Amino acid sequence: MHKPKPIRAALILFLFALPSWGAPSVLATIKPIHSLAAGVMQGVGEPVLLIGGALSEHSYELKPSDARKLQSADVVFEIGPDMETYLTGPLKALGGGTIVALEYAPGVRLYPARHGGLWGEEDEHGPTDPHIWLDPRNAIAMTRAIAAALVKRDPAHAAVYRANVARQIVLLEALDRELAAKFVPLRDRPYIVFHDAYRYLEERYGLHSVGAVTVAPDRPVGTRRVATLREAAASGRAICLFREPQFPPKLIEALVAGTKARVGVLDPLGADLTPGPGLYPRLLRDLAQSLTDCLGKKN
Ligand SMILES: [Zn+2]
Repeated sequence: MHKPKPIRAALILFLFALPSWGAPSVLATIKPIHSLAAGVMQGVGEPVLLIGGALSEHSYELKPSDARKLQSADVVFEIGPDMETYLTGPLKALGGGTIVALEYAPGVRLYPARHGGLWGEEDEHGPTDPHIWLDPRNAIAMTRAIAAALVKRDPAHAAVYRANVARQIVLLEALDRELAAKFVPLRDRPYIVFHDAYRYLEERYGLHSVGAVTVAPDRPVGTRRVATLREAAASGRAICLFREPQFPPKLIEALVAGTKARVGVLDPLGADLTPGPGLYPRLLRDLAQSLTDCLGKKN
């Protein structure tokens, strides 16, 4: 038996204990795709998150410290030009980094933004609805695209990325089945969301949303729209109105006051959740729970 020298053994341990050793520098713009990237990178390194905390995915302005993070990234994962409008200029100035717009990844379903009725006429997001992560099948397609980009940039860790992808897809498929069962009782329960962020979830699981409070999350809602929304709450056309934690609750509370409609909370981004591989399934389960808590009750 050959006994390794203590110093050499310590050095080997040291190298294995450094997960970022030789890992590419990866940046993801929002928490859901950061979570998917973090899962793919487990054992290799950790991606940097651009938009943390309780910020909206729409009203973001790039700070100088964020611009520096972008500059030093080897790979940037974003939804794409339908979401990260604030990145259009800075990404052009990016050094040798690879930019992966996940809305264009193979297998990702894209829906147009909704118009008419309680969805309003204005077009805040452009023609495409960018909230693609709220369908777990899109999360699977994005996981594959994230891994393909990482394998290309960092072939030394290809085996780890591929093993992580296989594991992540099994988890996402199980999550999709779990959610499908959970949403069955809610299919005929009409509701209004704060902004048009949930179409991917609704199409996937047959949910019955009838409109949005705001067509532009950062602008005040017009008086005519307020009257229409109040009427929807009063007539029972919507049994729940969902607010979002990034925006003050005052307007929605006023809309349901004196009606049988209830107020729930939906968070499309995981504002309060800790970033990491576990965030994505937690985000989807929290949405399912919030919808069930508000819509599941009988009036
Ligand atoms: Zn949004």
